[in-house]
Amino acid sequence: MGQIVDIGRRIELIPMDSYFHDIAIALYQQQQDGPSFLVHTYSRIEGASQRIQFVIETMQTLGGMTATESGLLQFPCGLDHQLACKRVFLEACKFDSTHLVESRPDTIFDKKSSCNVTVLSHGNGRYQVTADGDGTGKERRVSAIAGGLSKLGDMMAFDEENPDQIAFPCGCSHDALVGLLLVRAPNVRAVVREQQMTASRGVLSSPSQQK
Ligand SMILES: [Zn+2]
Repeated sequence: MGQIVDIGRRIELIPMDSYFHDIAIALYQQQQDGPSFLVHTYSRIEGASQRIQFVIETMQTLGGMTATESGLLQFPCGLDHQLACKRVFLEACKFDSTHLVESRPDTIFDKKSSCNVTVLSHGNGRYQVTADGDGTGKERRVSAIAGGLSKLGDMMAFDEENPDQIAFPCGCSHDALVGLLLVRAPNVRAVVREQQMTASRGVLSSPSQQK
């Protein structure tokens, strides 16, 4: 006890993992051969390390991330995409460890417009949101969902003539990640509320020795 190891800066916290004995699971960011992320728990409960391993593997599937030999997560492009990584972490912790998690498809059904909304990859990190059918307000929904994606993934928007298009600043494709963010993009306000709640809970339950 009392040993202080620099495991990086904590950027996200699940204070109580309802799928595994309410343990706290945190996401740390480090700078080791480029930005990398550590999933960590201080819990010594039996099975906790398997739970952490499950979260790491699920983040690889959902976010298209890679893991180093020591289990640190990175994006293949070498950028941190910190905001997106936090989302991948939060979503990965929403599965119980018996779940076979698959990456998300590039299409969702949008209830508000009653359209299937698809994200097309144009390469070099550039994506376009499209919707089928000709429901009323379809174009507005497409812009809103593209806006949601850019907020959630810290993506760049294009000019006003192309409100349906967004891009990652790294210029690399992140298809799995876009599929994951697409699920939440139609309702960004709820996501932001969830983030604020997690953040405030994190402050309350943060032991002083944690960074
Ligand atoms: Zn990237």
